[in-house]
Amino acid sequence: ARREGGSRRLRQFRQRMLSEAQGRVQLISELHRGIEKGELQLFAQPIVNRERRVIGEEGLIRWFSSVLGTVAPDDFIPLAEQTGVIVEIGDWVLEEACRTLSAWSLDPARADLTFSVNLSERQLRVDGFGERVREIIARHGVRPDRLTVELTESVLHSDLDRTVGVLGMLRTEGVQSSLDDFGTGYSSLSYLQHLPVQQLKIDRSFVSSVVEDPHAAAIAQTIVWLGRNFHLQVVAEGVETEDQFSKLREIGVDAFQGYLFGKPRPVAERLLSA
Ligand code: C2E
Ligand code: MG
Ligand code: MG
Ligand code: MG
Repeated sequence: ARREGGSRRLRQFRQRMLSEAQGRVQLISELHRGIEKGELQLFAQPIVNRERRVIGEEGLIRWFSSVLGTVAPDDFIPLAEQTGVIVEIGDWVLEEACRTLSAWSLDPARADLTFSVNLSERQLRVDGFGERVREIIARHGVRPDRLTVELTESVLHSDLDRTVGVLGMLRTEGVQSSLDDFGTGYSSLSYLQHLPVQQLKIDRSFVSSVVEDPHAAAIAQTIVWLGRNFHLQVVAEGVETEDQFSKLREIGVDAFQGYLFGKPRPVAERLLSA
């Protein structure tokens, strides 16, 4: 539904941008223009504990293009990664996250909430990335342990030593790390031994079929066992129904995120209402 609307011409234009090489070049220049014009917004979605109490939020980027309408992150993040502009976007997301945490810290009801940001592999490869994160945290005066960075297993395919180094430095600072979309990558599990992460996020594909499909439930259960053995918090993402929630609780999942508990909303709203 989010990509509907607009004239037929606009839809065709958008389709071409997303599918053809030349369209991608146009999309890149649109993205640069959109960034300049402030068309990117950070939304956030609640993460709840086993008692359904909100314990944090995950920041999810949205692009409201005046030319293309709403463009989903899956349609522009990969391109932003290829061109490198994700580094600039990622810095902005970290700023927004720390601005949000700083506002929350003044509110006793929210001072303990965490904020998670998604990192691209490309950001980790920037020299001094860890120092950059430290600087942003310090400038906003937020508690480092309120910030979590989410990475997918794809970061493990490139430069593992570098990833371990950056995450290790963030860990020393107190920043938490999480493996997103866990269970969908092709990595060997042995890296868990070396990687300083504190959280695993069970991919939505397992969550969506956890009630009907015993194999999906077995994978979720295995991830929970893995989490227990490595002392990691296990979060299920994409929880949409009460049945999924109770099944995942039964399996032993620690925290939950999904439309059942709240859709992504502009972070600005999170600052105001209770
Ligand atoms: P992700 O980090 O795995 O985020 C979870 C995705 O699942 C989000 O999609 C969220 O809106 C969606 N979702 C949450 N609950 C439900 C549910 O109950 N049902 C369903 N069907 N979907 C649910 P979204 O916002 O489209 O983001 C897609 C991906 O884009 C993210 O996956 C993340 O990998 C990437 N992304 C988003 N924001 C950023 C960012 O600031 N930086 C980077 N590098 N990547 C980002
Ligand atoms: Mg994520
Ligand atoms: Mg995910
Ligand atoms: Mg994802």
